[in-house]
Amino acid sequence: MRTALLFSLGLCTALSNVVSAEREIHQPLTIRVYDRFGISRGQLDTARSTTREILRKAGLEPTWRTCSSIERSSFDCEETPVQPSELIVRIVATPIVSDSPNGPLGYSQVDTQARMGTLATVFGNRAEILAKAAGIESGSVLGLAIVHELGHLLMGNTLHSGQGPMQREWSLVALNRNLIAEWFFSRLEGEQMRRGLAARLQTAAQMLVTLTHSADTVVDTSK
Ligand SMILES: [Zn+2]
Repeated sequence: MRTALLFSLGLCTALSNVVSAEREIHQPLTIRVYDRFGISRGQLDTARSTTREILRKAGLEPTWRTCSSIERSSFDCEETPVQPSELIVRIVATPIVSDSPNGPLGYSQVDTQARMGTLATVFGNRAEILAKAAGIESGSVLGLAIVHELGHLLMGNTLHSGQGPMQREWSLVALNRNLIAEWFFSRLEGEQMRRGLAARLQTAAQMLVTLTHSADTVVDTSK
């Protein structure tokens, strides 16, 4: 029965064509990762390489910054504000009442009016359960879950597609095949993500101009 092999990631569905976008120029994107769950370094490395390969195929150049981890004692993050080109991924545990792989793997906080978001959360324990059911590494499932949520943040919507990482439901059979090419974004999704990233940078630049202009026009009344 088809539904027995499907697992929910989020909300509604929509079809899209799966055409990967190989681009020579990749837009830089930084991913700040905060691991509150306790993923092993090996699985975190697998998640990072999965994320990188899929995002690069979509025309993005991700830099992964591990900002907190149970296994690591030193981190890549300085005490700097989150930049417009940076997204945040939290890895946490969620309450689980059974060993069923059903259930969401994470969620994103998206402003659908502004069409952007910065913070995504993925559930490390659900990724482990689904990976075990599919017979693959939990790091691979975690990477796919991260990519899915980053897609929401960059496209600025909560929509899903019929193929690739933005599917609402994932097939155990497809996961078990473990073919990275099956999880590439469509050409349209890639364009939407790159446009979303460019819009984030443009919005930040406009805000800076506005602030600078305001500072220039402050009237000094102290004299
Ligand atoms: Zn989703």
